[in-house]
Formats: sequence, C-alpha cells, structure tokens
Amino acid sequence: MIKVAIYGKGGIGKSTTTANLSASLAAKGYNVMQIGCDPKADSTKNLMDGHRIPTVLDQIKEKGDRLKLEDIAFRGFASTVCVESGGPTPGIGCAGRGIITAFNKLEQLNAYEVFKPDIVFYDVLGDVVCGGFAMPIRGGYADYVFIVTSGEMMSLYAAANISHAIQNFGNRGYARFSGIILNSRNIDNELELVQRAAREMNTDIVKVLPRSHYVQSAENEGKTVIEAFPECSMAREYDELADRVMGVCCHV
Ligand code: ATP
Ligand code: MG
Repeated sequence: MIKVAIYGKGGIGKSTTTANLSASLAAKGYNVMQIGCDPKADSTKNLMDGHRIPTVLDQIKEKGDRLKLEDIAFRGFASTVCVESGGPTPGIGCAGRGIITAFNKLEQLNAYEVFKPDIVFYDVLGDVVCGGFAMPIRGGYADYVFIVTSGEMMSLYAAANISHAIQNFGNRGYARFSGIILNSRNIDNELELVQRAAREMNTDIVKVLPRSHYVQSAENEGKTVIEAFPECSMAREYDELADRVMGVCCHV
C-alpha cells in the first residue's frame, strides 16, 4: 500500500488534482482510496457524482459506538473508496483534531484491511501546518508528499512552509517530500518561477498541469475530467501525472 499526501495552499487545486489522480489510477485498475482532510469535506465530491458524503466526525457524533465502516467509506467512480474526515466550523475548535480522530476511527474499523487499497491519497489543506494538518506527514500515515502550487507568490510561500515542515519531520524517518505539481494559473514566467522555487526546496516539478476549461465543465457535472471527458487532452495530462506519481512512489 502506497500512502500519498497532497498538500497546497487553499484553493490551489488540491482536491481537483487528487480526485483526478484517484480517478485515473482507479480507471487503470488500481484499488484507490481518497481521504479528504479538510473541514469543508468537498474533496471527494467529484468522485461521488457531485454528492457530499457524510463526514467521519459527523457520523461519530451521530452513531457513536454503533458506527460501521460503511457509514464513513463510500464507493465512487471506478470503485474508488471515498472518505471525508470533516471538522468543526472554521474558527470554532481545532480543525486538525478532526483529522486525527478520523484516522484513528479508520484504523479501528480496519478500513485498510477491508478495502486493501493499492494507493491512499490524503488531500490536505496546506495553509496551516498545525498538529492535525501535519498528521499525515508526522503520524506515519503518508510515505510520500506532493505539493500543488502555481507560480503565484502566496502559493509558493505556502509550498515553502509545507516543504520545511516535511523536511523537519522527514529527518526522523517519516514522509518523504516527493515533488511539486505545478497547477498552472498562466501567470508570467510561471514555469521559471516554480522551477527556481523547486530548486530552493531541493525538489523537482513532477508534472506541469495546464489550466483547462475541461476542469470546470467536469465539475459542473459533479465529475472528474477523467470520468466526464475521458478522451480530452486534460484527461491525458492527469493520466501522465498519475504515471509519474506511481513512478516516483514505486521507483519505476
Ligand atoms: P481548498 O483549499 O479550498 O480545498 P483546493 O486546493 O482543493 O481548495 P480545488 O477545489 O481543487 O482547490 O480547486 C479550486 C478551483 O480551481 C476549482 O473550481 C477547480 O475547478 C479549479 N481548478 C483547479 N485546477 C484547475 C485547472 N488545472 N484548470 C482549470 N481550473 C482548475
Ligand atoms: Mg480542497
């Protein structure tokens, strides 16, 4: 089982990229699990026909000890297994704690043994690297971390912060920083800016994703690009990203 965390600044395209990665790998026949680690709980909705699934935290609140695995893990496109940790309303309580609680519950219910995923994606907000948000890196959950960024200053700033956190924890044998996914915003000199930032972070760009209208069109249908427009050029870009991620994680 390969465990991959996808980090990046708010709104940069983490959930879209992760869901398309999941969809691409699932369509290729891998068992894929995607865990949204964001109180917004919208990470997996384009794998679930646009529907929001109940969150682990809400289900714990509602069902207590009667909670079953099928209350928190749902099959989406191409049999992907979708989970949302959930969390408190922003500003009330610690969002990170939701992630820790959700991870513990998944283990307690033997989610990984039951679904036997080949690959698990954790879709994690990267503005705050507080206890809970660092959990996938620090708690021994993720083996590999990719950061989604554009060439925009704030997004590169967040990427640098996350990379510091990973490299600090990484020294102690936890998750490995495995590269940058450049999600283009079409700003001037974008590739050069991100290449330079990548060098400073001691890493590489694993894939440049273009900005594409197919992303929005697919989202309007509650789907990933892979599902809605499997023949389009953007689907090929996500497929290539999926191959590269597997290449990095499987050393092929
Ligand atoms: P949050 O931090 O709020 O969870 P996020 O990083 O998960 O945000 P997304 O929700 O995936 O970001 O994407 C934000 C918006 O950007 C979405 O409306 C999505 O359709 C759009 N988007 C993402 N990637 C691309 C792309 N390559 N081309 C065009 N639009 C994109
Ligand atoms: Mg998101």
